[in-house]
Amino acid sequence: MTDTETFRQEARSWLEENCPPSQRTPREGETPPAWGTPEFTAEARQWHERCADKGWTCPTWPKEYGGGGLSNQEDRILRQEVGRIGSMIPGGSFGTHMLGPVLLEYANEDQKRRFLPDIVHGRTIWAQGYSEPGAGSDLASLQTRAERKGDEYVINGSKIWTTGANNADWMFCLVRTDPDAPKHEGISFILFDLKSPGVTISPIELISGASEFCQVFFEDVRARADNLVGEKNRGWDIAKRLLQHERSMISGMGVGGGAARSGGAKKRVAKQHRGLADMAVAYVDVEDGRIVDDALRDAITQNEMDTICLTLTMKRAGEEAKAARGPGHTASMFKWYATELNKRRQEILVSALGTQALGWEGDAFAPHELQQTRSWLRSKGNSIEGGTSEVQMNVIAKRVLGLPD
Ligand SMILES: Cc1cc2nc3c(=O)[nH]c(=O)nc-3n(C[C@H](O)[C@H](O)[C@H](O)COP(=O)(O)OP(=O)(O)OC[C@H]3O[C@@H](n4cnc5c(N)ncnc54)[C@H](O)[C@@H]3O)c2cc1C
Repeated sequence: MTDTETFRQEARSWLEENCPPSQRTPREGETPPAWGTPEFTAEARQWHERCADKGWTCPTWPKEYGGGGLSNQEDRILRQEVGRIGSMIPGGSFGTHMLGPVLLEYANEDQKRRFLPDIVHGRTIWAQGYSEPGAGSDLASLQTRAERKGDEYVINGSKIWTTGANNADWMFCLVRTDPDAPKHEGISFILFDLKSPGVTISPIELISGASEFCQVFFEDVRARADNLVGEKNRGWDIAKRLLQHERSMISGMGVGGGAARSGGAKKRVAKQHRGLADMAVAYVDVEDGRIVDDALRDAITQNEMDTICLTLTMKRAGEEAKAARGPGHTASMFKWYATELNKRRQEILVSALGTQALGWEGDAFAPHELQQTRSWLRSKGNSIEGGTSEVQMNVIAKRVLGLPD
């Protein structure tokens, strides 16, 4: 038996033994439940802990930082085997998908040892402190200041649209450390505890009544100077690298992407297609197994073909990116395409379901119809977070196509 076959056998038996039955049937498009949420049941916790102890929540990270130390090929096999039993790698978070990879690339040894194992085990929940009231698409205009005082930085300013800050422990944050330098050159990337004195977290209530976002205020917040990652004033490079990982993650959340990253690619995409057509046919006229409305049938077929093309392209690019140690500017292409495709998919579903997809609450709507309304609305945010579609097109024009500014 070759080494990879041995690894497959070992992974298969370990998964059979350790993955609880309740963790083998995730719903389509669902990300594994996060710590502290009601979905994070005792078995979800057990599954998470077992994988984390083996380093398999972050399979390719080096073992000395808590990762699995797997090669890219072993990682692929592991994901295939996880997909085979209908499960998912648990513990996906801003830490595992965004911060961890940039710490591996830019942090010093002490920082890696202090922060990475807690990400692997889900012990620290991270929030992203990038956007400010006056700095969204033009992120480099950010004004939150950090001044060095002794062996600390003192931070003043505010961040907005900070997803989950009210449930997070720590923040990775972009701060201005040289107000006189050109705007991209005076920014640093720093980490600090959100329980520090001077941090105020105000959830922003949405029209739905939920509070997914927060505005976070800093008044003389003190962060250890040795929590500044990379060189002082060179944080913009780290910020951009993290955005590539974020964009890659977001394209993975939408149509086809989760499938592209996981071993159960074909199965998941097939399920997703069935989902689109199945859901539609329950609400529209069908004759001889065909949706009667030509325009709707066409839209569904086109969406399915686009999804397959995207999935295959992402899979190929994902393999190339792993060989090249992570995503590059092409992450903007996928982020733009996957989120716009997902919006079209949601529009198709709303037009098929008609007024049943426009409910907010009440007995007149089935739970999946109410969920559809929310998924349709949520898909709009998908093409804004991590940089809007227009911003992705600017990156593609400049960095992928090489067009002049
Ligand atoms: C669901 C969700 C989660 C988020 N989570 C976080 C988070 O955790 N942490 C965080 O820091 N931020 C987060 N954000 C904020 C997000 O990064 C910003 O909303 C985004 O970068 C856009 O910034 P803005 O809202 O200030 O819009 P603006 O920058 O004001 O843009 C307004 C409009 O102008 C367009 N535009 C702006 N500049 C250009 C240009 N140069 N060329 C062409 N068009 C342009 C934009 O495309 C957009 O349509 C989140 C946003 C959403 C929707």
